Amino acid sequence: MAAATVDGSALAGRALAAAGARHMFGVVGIPVTSLASRAAAAGVRFLAFRNEQSAGYAAAAYGFLTGTPGLLLTVSGPGCVHGLAGLSHATANAWPLLMVSGSCDQADAGRGDFQELDQIAATKPFVKLAVKATTIADIPRLVFQALAATVSGRPGGCYLDIPSDVLHQTLTESEAADLIAAATAASNPSPPKHKSLDEGIEKAADLLRRAERPLVVIGKGAAYARAEEAIRKLVDTTGIPFLPTPMGKGVVPDSHLLSATAARSLAIGQCDVALVVGARLNWLLHFGEPPKWSKDVKFILVDVCEEEIELRKPHVGIVGDAKRVIELINREIKDNPFCLASSHPWVEAITKKAKDNVLKMEAQLAKDVVPFNFLTPLRIIRDAILAEGSPAPVVVSEGANTMDVGRAVLVQNEPRTRLDAGTWGTMGVGLGYCIAAAVAEPERLVVAVEGDSGFGFSAMEVETLVRYQLPVVVIVFNNNGVYGGDRRGPDEITGPYKDDPAPTSFVPAAGYHKMMEAFGGKGYLVETPDELKSALSESFHARKPAVINCIIDPYAGAESGRMQHKN
Ligand code: ADP
Repeated sequence: MAAATVDGSALAGRALAAAGARHMFGVVGIPVTSLASRAAAAGVRFLAFRNEQSAGYAAAAYGFLTGTPGLLLTVSGPGCVHGLAGLSHATANAWPLLMVSGSCDQADAGRGDFQELDQIAATKPFVKLAVKATTIADIPRLVFQALAATVSGRPGGCYLDIPSDVLHQTLTESEAADLIAAATAASNPSPPKHKSLDEGIEKAADLLRRAERPLVVIGKGAAYARAEEAIRKLVDTTGIPFLPTPMGKGVVPDSHLLSATAARSLAIGQCDVALVVGARLNWLLHFGEPPKWSKDVKFILVDVCEEEIELRKPHVGIVGDAKRVIELINREIKDNPFCLASSHPWVEAITKKAKDNVLKMEAQLAKDVVPFNFLTPLRIIRDAILAEGSPAPVVVSEGANTMDVGRAVLVQNEPRTRLDAGTWGTMGVGLGYCIAAAVAEPERLVVAVEGDSGFGFSAMEVETLVRYQLPVVVIVFNNNGVYGGDRRGPDEITGPYKDDPAPTSFVPAAGYHKMMEAFGGKGYLVETPDELKSALSESFHARKPAVINCIIDPYAGAESGRMQHKN
């Protein structure tokens, strides 16, 4: 009897499982269909999408939520190109993702083979590592190597290319087992060698102790590092106010008394020492420069990436894992403790300003405005989410006004419960994120608050939600288009195409809820507070896929949200 053989697809599936992968997102087709089912047979659940772009966004978010690499599987050529969206998005956000693509037959490369593309060259600008298996025996080693590279140092995207001929090569069961065992043994992590951080830790603690107006800035790198306990302890023991970035929200609960979110301008404009943990001083933080920041502010940057520290030239830079570094700072402070009292002028100024702004916002939120502006439905959604308690739902948020206003209104009290357009301001991420969150965090409900434009990028994935029966409620803020549809004044409408719809407009009052109904999910059309409350209560309770089509006054939002000056 001939010895049983294992082909490249089965070997890749087994290697992924042996390396710890549990989920893979993607679209099958030539030459990777078998790889998806082989991986599933080996214990890696395959989530089949309608488009690689969404699958890539799912894999990226999965990397952030779990701290383990998100996996994206694509076909060759165009599939790989579609996958670049998620791959680049992951790298831009410093999230670990491994894209695995099939590619054309090696013997036919350069001769115009089916879906031929130099995929290593195509992926290189967006990854930390791009490797190709040129023979079946390469597969296990490269799977382990590429997965490890996604999470080492600053997390990011990596790429593994497996040509069609390699997927069809075979070896024996015992050869396969030996290769996987060897790759596993080679990857056995030696305990990380930590550089001594003592000097940086002492300087940081000293600077914080002597500061008159200290601030802790919490980025999504701190959320990724699972530094929540350490950072909460730091805030609680020192009484220093904190400011989260959008996806740093929840590391310390938004409801914490020392939250400076509602006093952001004051906090960053007047702090004299800012401990920035897992956040880049990029556009989101106004580059750490005046006029938003004081010119005299001293930054203490904590980042796993040395180049990041070199780029920003902070007063104190500490290269290390956020959780570990903050634990060490806590230990240093414990030996010589200090705590700003709530009556400290800085703390009082921040808490008073935050309270005033919250009261102003609450006065706006309290009104039931119909037709809906952005605030009324967001207040109702916020309250419904808070009523869910713990574990809190994962909130997915994208759109211009929908995301901007949503960031201020929606409350995050648990870490890694907010996913949004991120560092790149990427639109179209929402449905992929929802699917990733539902499989990565099965105990949590997933609630997406989407602009109609953001939703449209990947709306076909509602079918994927229904197919897998995921507990995802998507609320579409339907204001007839980008920023609010056609807002042209009569003078702007000139030229031969003046009768065309405006580039910002969609079909008015589109029936997005019916897209969900088309696949057997639950759809709701809501225009009043009572209708929205009832749809939320029913769909949150059901924990089944639902789309709530929420009609918003097209004149309610601002063009470009808060980025008008750039449009
Ligand atoms: P935000 O969008 O919240 O401002 P950024 O994406 O700009 O956050 O920055 C996140 C930073 O966190 C990146 O510079 C990244 O290198 C860093 N980072 C990632 N993982 C860790 C970790 N484990 N410890 C510390 N920093 C980390």
